Amino acid sequence: MSTEPMSAKFKPYTRQSIVNARQWQWMRPQLQEAVQVVSHVLPFRTNEYVMDQLIDWNNIPDDPIYRLVFPHRDMLHAAEYEQLRELVLHKKDAAATARLVHAIRMRMNPHPAGQMTHNVPRVNDAPLRGLQHKYKETVLFFPSAGQTCHAYCTFCFRWPQFVGMDDMKFDARETGELVAYLKTHTGVTDVLITGGDPLIMNTRSLAEFIEPLLAPELAHIQNIRIGTKSVAYWPQRFVSDKDADDLMRLFERVVAAGKNLAIMGHYSHAVELRSAIARQAVKRIVSTGATLRMQGPLIRHINEDPRSWAELWSTGVRLGAIPYYMFVERDTGPSEYFALPLARAHEIFQAAYQMVSGLSRTVRGPSMSAFPGKVVIDGVVTINGEKLFALQFLQARNPDWVRKPFFAKYDASATWLDHLKPAFGKDKFFFESEAGHDDAAHAPGAPSARVIPISAALRAGSA
Ligand code: SF4
Repeated sequence: MSTEPMSAKFKPYTRQSIVNARQWQWMRPQLQEAVQVVSHVLPFRTNEYVMDQLIDWNNIPDDPIYRLVFPHRDMLHAAEYEQLRELVLHKKDAAATARLVHAIRMRMNPHPAGQMTHNVPRVNDAPLRGLQHKYKETVLFFPSAGQTCHAYCTFCFRWPQFVGMDDMKFDARETGELVAYLKTHTGVTDVLITGGDPLIMNTRSLAEFIEPLLAPELAHIQNIRIGTKSVAYWPQRFVSDKDADDLMRLFERVVAAGKNLAIMGHYSHAVELRSAIARQAVKRIVSTGATLRMQGPLIRHINEDPRSWAELWSTGVRLGAIPYYMFVERDTGPSEYFALPLARAHEIFQAAYQMVSGLSRTVRGPSMSAFPGKVVIDGVVTINGEKLFALQFLQARNPDWVRKPFFAKYDASATWLDHLKPAFGKDKFFFESEAGHDDAAHAPGAPSARVIPISAALRAGSA
């Protein structure tokens, strides 16, 4: 970690510009090659703060933040890597490279958990671009200007949008359709503004998306959440950026309007809360009356050590943040490289949970954001001599499923919900018995749900 003074101006690095970073010379040729090759498939972007303050260059490539942002050759299958390396570095054949890159991306399940087919609200059978409505009370909103990040995580499940797979991209240019949709969906209490990272936007642009949500007609919107990794990748956003004070005033306006403003801070490792500026960012956020919840996925090679989670949660609590979720890595992108068996994920969560005080035990996990909902692994139990996973939904497409315990056969190698088999000789889980009509009936805005004519919705929006 450098002690050199760092410019306060945000400075990103991409595949093209990383060769100009002084740290590039500290990377062995094989590591440099992996960045140049693998970044054709997966997005690569880092920044000066991450490079200078978060990565321990004496410990690469095993340093957790290096693993978090720098592509590694094992993220591709060995044969894919060799083929791509040949095309990129030797044949320099752009058309053949594009074909291979596309084939590898399609293998990587670019679109997990039915996001495009089941979660996008439709009006007059046309999808509302930039909105997702999976759970009854929460709408996700993807502003177009917030669809990049201060750095890209190598495991990110939103990777397709960063590499320009446009038909899989969510974005909205303004809030008109969102406001219209919310006015006609009074059961919605929460709006999650997400990306990418909405805090990549300047405060003025962000305010244009947030302020319409404070209108009296949207009194049913109680909670405005902003999903962000800036707290870790660019805490200057809250402290020293030229409009950081304006951002704090915007947060205060949301709170003064009677809303709960929840900053959903994505943290991956304890090191992200060790710098003075990252701690100051937490303090400034909570001083506005906003809450800061900490969440992040459990990733092999990055945060398998329960002590890192325990330090992260307890430091966060001390600064005023609230531990919220430990997620299971999704089944997309280089998931074979990052996935941990569910059994191991549970052990890590339990060990970390046992290390912290009750105030940090607001955290839930390990939780899978799977197609039917958020499923948490509560434990491993033996019933009538059968070793089982005890599970429950924390959130579900059908609200009736939430907090109903259910059981799956223990499987030491399973890494995702659909690898699990029901316990007690059953051939389906209880939520699958509704298959065929469950998702159609319960996915808000799905074709079989109530359809609002867009013109009427927009008239309501301007009323
Ligand atoms: S910051 Fe969030 S959206 Fe951006 S790359 Fe990382 S996980 Fe993905």
